[in-house]
Amino acid sequence: MKQVIHARCTMCGHTVEAAPETTVCPVCGGILDIEYDYEYIRSTLSKYELLDRTERSMWRYMEFLPVEGIGRTPRLRVGCSPLYKAEKLSQEIGFKGTLYIKDDGLNPTASLKDRASAMAVVKAEEAGKTTIACSSTGNAASSLAGNAAAAGMKTFIFVPARAPKGKVAQLMMFGAKVILVDGSYEDTFRLSAEAIDHYHWYNRNAAINPYLMEGKKTVSLEIAEQLLFKVPDYVALSVGDGCTIAGVWKGFKDLYGAGYIDRLPRLISVQASGCCPINTAASAHTMEWVPQEENTLADSIAVGVPRNPVKALRAIEESDGITVNVSDEEILDAMRLLGRTQGVFAEPAGATGTAGLKKAVETGIIEKDASVVSIVTGNGLKDVANAIKAAGEPLMLPPDMAKLRAALGD
Ligand SMILES: *Cc1c(COP(=O)(O)O)cnc(C)c1O
Ligand SMILES: [Zn+2]
Repeated sequence: MKQVIHARCTMCGHTVEAAPETTVCPVCGGILDIEYDYEYIRSTLSKYELLDRTERSMWRYMEFLPVEGIGRTPRLRVGCSPLYKAEKLSQEIGFKGTLYIKDDGLNPTASLKDRASAMAVVKAEEAGKTTIACSSTGNAASSLAGNAAAAGMKTFIFVPARAPKGKVAQLMMFGAKVILVDGSYEDTFRLSAEAIDHYHWYNRNAAINPYLMEGKKTVSLEIAEQLLFKVPDYVALSVGDGCTIAGVWKGFKDLYGAGYIDRLPRLISVQASGCCPINTAASAHTMEWVPQEENTLADSIAVGVPRNPVKALRAIEESDGITVNVSDEEILDAMRLLGRTQGVFAEPAGATGTAGLKKAVETGIIEKDASVVSIVTGNGLKDVANAIKAAGEPLMLPPDMAKLRAALGD
């Protein structure tokens, strides 16, 4: 892997060889970051050659990824999700700039997490493992179960008992061994860590495994390519553990390092007001985050003890980012807005970035003529209960034309 130089510890700076199973710093236990040889990448692939590629998945960015190849094992088609210009949504929120919606809910298991799980499966194979495990608020689990099923691998999945039914149904359908933990996400994470240690499964816990962020960063490589390498002023997205926002930042930084883009976007980190430990620390410009309760219906970002606060806080700080907290009402409102104006169906955490963008526009935090990409991170079919909560129940009538005409005021 000539493109990868080594893995560097985010805490002490120690560097180690980037082996598939090297997931934390051998010196201090800190989270690692994969570093690339940008000169090498630039010399093997130009952005014009990239634009001509026919591979329609996240693996079209192979030169920017920590893998030699993806072997011959069957893979799901992850990535290459659409980027929509959202003119109607802009109009409704009084935004005069250019807004794009990146609908990552259209990945095979319906969330951005597929990008990380596809990477996890390849790295697990490289490490010679046949079983992968993770703990998750839901989407990391369903995406791992799906991507592993396609590759013929076994999965052990730990999810908190509150996980929405749609996500649990996906797990069962993909044949995962599912452990519903009667406790918080924090409790779930702890139990999975002990079990992974005990059984030597491959660890897909995002904060620990640096390769997952490398998978997630492909969303930024795509955004940049879809905009023909014209970088937006802002990228808005929801934040839970912090791995996604760190991945988004890493993607843009790698492109910048390789000379594909000439500037970096500012990140808009959006959390639920009922659970916003990362934004609380980021807005105070400190790394000293404090655990919070998990009070939001956006289950995917109900993370009171974030697992990747260091990378997330650095990403927000380095990008001169903005933090926005939104209420559950504002999240439900953004779900309706995305559906009604764009035909995009988002789960609560999937619409949270858009909720934050709307608030940032309304409160004048961002310029009205800016260019923004809002990432929808997960599909609404995963959490039908909250979708109905947002959108309401339909009209119900007997099969009678007269009654229909009456109901329609005809
Ligand atoms: C996981 C997830 C997030 C947040 O990602 P983190 O890495 O936990 O910050 C946001 N939206 C959806 C739909 C998710 O599944
Ligand atoms: Zn270290």
